[in-house]
Amino acid sequence: MKLFRLALHWQIFIALVLAILVGVTLDPTTTLFGVSLNSVFNFVGTLFLNALKMLIVPLIMSSIIVGMMEIQPDTLGRLGSKTLIYYAASSLVAILIGLLVVNAFQPGLVDGEPARDMIGLSADTEDVIERVEGKGSGDLAEVFIRMIPPNIVSAAAQGKMLGLIFFSLLFGFFISRVKGQPGDTLKNFWNGLLDVMMQMTEWVMLFAPIGVFALVAKVLLASGLDAFKPLAVFFFTVLIALTIHLLLVMPAVLKFIARVSPAAHFRAMMPALLTAFSTSSSSATLPITIDCVENRAGVSNRVSGFTLPLGATVNMDGTALYECVAAMFIAQAYGLSLDLTTQFTIVLIALLTSIGVAGIPSASLVAITIILAAIGLPVEAIGLILVVDRVLDMCRTAVNVFSDSVAAVTIARLEGEETRLIVGSRQSSVGS
Ligand code: ASP
Repeated sequence: MKLFRLALHWQIFIALVLAILVGVTLDPTTTLFGVSLNSVFNFVGTLFLNALKMLIVPLIMSSIIVGMMEIQPDTLGRLGSKTLIYYAASSLVAILIGLLVVNAFQPGLVDGEPARDMIGLSADTEDVIERVEGKGSGDLAEVFIRMIPPNIVSAAAQGKMLGLIFFSLLFGFFISRVKGQPGDTLKNFWNGLLDVMMQMTEWVMLFAPIGVFALVAKVLLASGLDAFKPLAVFFFTVLIALTIHLLLVMPAVLKFIARVSPAAHFRAMMPALLTAFSTSSSSATLPITIDCVENRAGVSNRVSGFTLPLGATVNMDGTALYECVAAMFIAQAYGLSLDLTTQFTIVLIALLTSIGVAGIPSASLVAITIILAAIGLPVEAIGLILVVDRVLDMCRTAVNVFSDSVAAVTIARLEGEETRLIVGSRQSSVGS
C-alpha cells in the first residue's frame, strides 16, 4: 500500500518538524472552526496511541511465543543470560555517563550555591505526589512480584507487561514440547497470528506521520518555551548525556560487537525512534520496534521475539540515565552532600528501578521519588523537574527504544545470525 512516494521515516520526520513549528509558534488558545487546536491534536494523537496500544497484547504474546517455540531448550539459557547481561551492562554504562556529565555540569548549583529557591517547585507537584504516594521503597519488591501474574487475563487487561511476558515465555517454551498434530496445530496458529499482527502493525504505521504530528504539537503547545528557562542547564545536561549514549556508546556497540553499520541501523530504526519520541512510551512503540528490527534490520523472530518485549520494560538506558541525572540534580539543588555512598546509592537504585518502571510516559518520576526517599530528600523535591519532564521523556524514550534495538542486533550476531540490514525491502509495502 502506498500513501506517498516518500519513505515512511521521512514522512514522520517532516511531520515532527512541522509539529515543532506549529507547537512553538501558535498560541495555546488558537481555535479551528470554533474547536480548540489543542483538543484537535489531543483527539488525533489519542486515536494513534490507542491504535498502537490495541496491537500490544496479541503482538507481544504471539511474538514471544513464536520466538520461544523456535528456541531449543539447550540454547535458551545461553540466549537468556546473554540478553540479561547485555541489558544490565548497557544500563549501567548509561547511568555512569549520566553521573559523569551531571558532576561535570553541576546543574543544581548556581555560582556554587544550591539553586533550589531560584528554580521553585512546579505547580503540579501535589498532583504528582498524590500519584506516587505509597509507592515508596517497597516498590522494588513489587517489581519482582508483578513478574508472576496471579491472573493472566487481568494482567493483559491492565497492560501489565512483565506478567504477560513471563506467561508467554513459559507458554512458548512448553508448546515446543508438544509433539505430533496438536503441537503442529498450536505452532501454525501462533505463526498465523503473528503474521496478522505484523501486517496490522505495518498498516497502523502508515498513520504514524499524522499521529506524531498531533502528539508533538500538543506537548509543545501546552508547555511553550518560556517554562524551560530556569531549568535550561539541567535540560541540556540530560540532553548531552543522552546524546553521548546514543551517538557514541550505541554506535560503538553496533560497529564493534554487532558488526553492522551504525548509520544504516539508525536509518532502519527511524520510524521506531520517531514514534518513541512522540509517544513517550516504549510499550506503545513496541509494535513498530518489532517491525523495524525484523523487517528493516533483518533480525530473526527467534531473537527479536525474545529480546524486544523484554527490553521494552527491562532495558531502559535513557530512563536509567535520566533517573541518575535528575536525582543528582535535585540533591545538588537541595545542597545535599554528594559523597561516594550517596552517589553509589543513586546509581544502584537507578539501575534496579529502571528494570521495573513501565514503558509509559513519566514512569521515571515514580522511580526518582524512590531514589529521593533513599537519600533522605523529601518526595516533593520532584517538583523541581516537572516542567521539563515531558520533553525529556520524549528524548529518553527514544534512547530506550534504540538501545533495545541495538540489543536485538547484537544478540542476534552473538547467536551467529547474519543480520543483514534490509531497509527498504519489506518497507516498500509500508511507505517508500
Ligand atoms: N517514558 C519512558 C518509556 O516509556 C519511561 C520513563 O522514563 O518515564 O520508556
